[in-house]
Amino acid sequence: MDAEITREQLHAYLEEALSTAEMAKIENALRNNDTPRQLLRQVREELDRGEHSLGGVWRRERVSCLSRDQLSGYLHGILEADLHAYAEFHLKTMACPTCLANLDDLRDKQTESHGQARQRKQIFQSSAGLLKKQT
Ligand SMILES: [Zn+2]
Repeated sequence: MDAEITREQLHAYLEEALSTAEMAKIENALRNNDTPRQLLRQVREELDRGEHSLGGVWRRERVSCLSRDQLSGYLHGILEADLHAYAEFHLKTMACPTCLANLDDLRDKQTESHGQARQRKQIFQSSAGLLKKQT
């Protein structure tokens, strides 16, 4: 099982700012691997020294997951700046698996409906051409 753990994830782990599934994934990686364990020690020391403000960011930003509407708005680039920034953070920095899966799903649906619209247009055009020929 490939479990690449980043500093950011460990930060969030220490701050208990992750979902249960994410926590479990990291605990698993920590049990089976030396590398993340060493990294965890570093991150913990950094946190103790208060070197990273990231913890504060996690706490502040960890409001909740994005709704389908918000994700759809994000896809269309129509979110308010604040929400867009949060979405970017949630999807890219936190790489929330739930929201990323939702986003993928929405993107698929969007491509699908674009395809259907194109098809309808083609059908319409060809039948319009047909009608023209008949008259
Ligand atoms: Zn999420």
